[in-house]
Amino acid sequence: VLSAATLVTWINRAADVYEREKAYLTELDAPIGDSDHGENMARGFLAVKAKLADQSFPDAAAVFKTAAMTLLSTVGGASGPLYSTFFLSAAVKAAGKAELTLADWTACLDAALAGIVQRGKAALGDKTMIDALSPAADALRQAAGKPLAEALALSAAAAETGMKATIPLVAHKGRASYLGDRSVGHQDPGATSTHYLLKALADVAA
Ligand code: ADP
Ligand code: MG
Ligand code: MG
Repeated sequence: VLSAATLVTWINRAADVYEREKAYLTELDAPIGDSDHGENMARGFLAVKAKLADQSFPDAAAVFKTAAMTLLSTVGGASGPLYSTFFLSAAVKAAGKAELTLADWTACLDAALAGIVQRGKAALGDKTMIDALSPAADALRQAAGKPLAEALALSAAAAETGMKATIPLVAHKGRASYLGDRSVGHQDPGATSTHYLLKALADVAA
């Protein structure tokens, strides 16, 4: 199961990954965006890490809610509200649970995906974070009944495949969509940060 303490460890690890990959994520955002995705993610998750260190958390939903509120207030642009929605939607599904089983986390990830789709109106193939998140949620559903660590690894691997599959796509949402066909040939920064997020969870649970 995923305890509240494990979820805090996950988010701290994601913050460290975003700090380490800050320049790379920003470099991905240069040709098809405004060169700030690395700074956005590193700043936001550093703030979440600081908030989580401040207090102790009784349950998973409290961890997710803190992440959602902090990301909303520290990350601007498209990704801040969308990652905030990720955690807020997950918090709703995690409500009342001290720890999350694989089935619980699957419901959380499905809700996170639905929340981001509702908020950002992007569909699969629009060259956004959805292209990593949606296959990850599919893979997790298909991994029902497997050991948690294995299921999370399959989900992260699906996110990575989805991330790479954004390269040949034309962007239809966000800043990259302003470029039209010139967005082809570039990996989407948000799909990349989503892969990192889910990979960090798989690593923490391994
Ligand atoms: P901004 O583009 O406002 O500077 P960021 O650079 O932090 O914000 O994030 C850009 C990423 O946000 C994109 O790479 C894409 O994955 C994601 N994104 C943008 N618009 C949407 C949307 N409508 N739905 C889902 N994801 C989106
Ligand atoms: Mg940007
Ligand atoms: Mg920006």
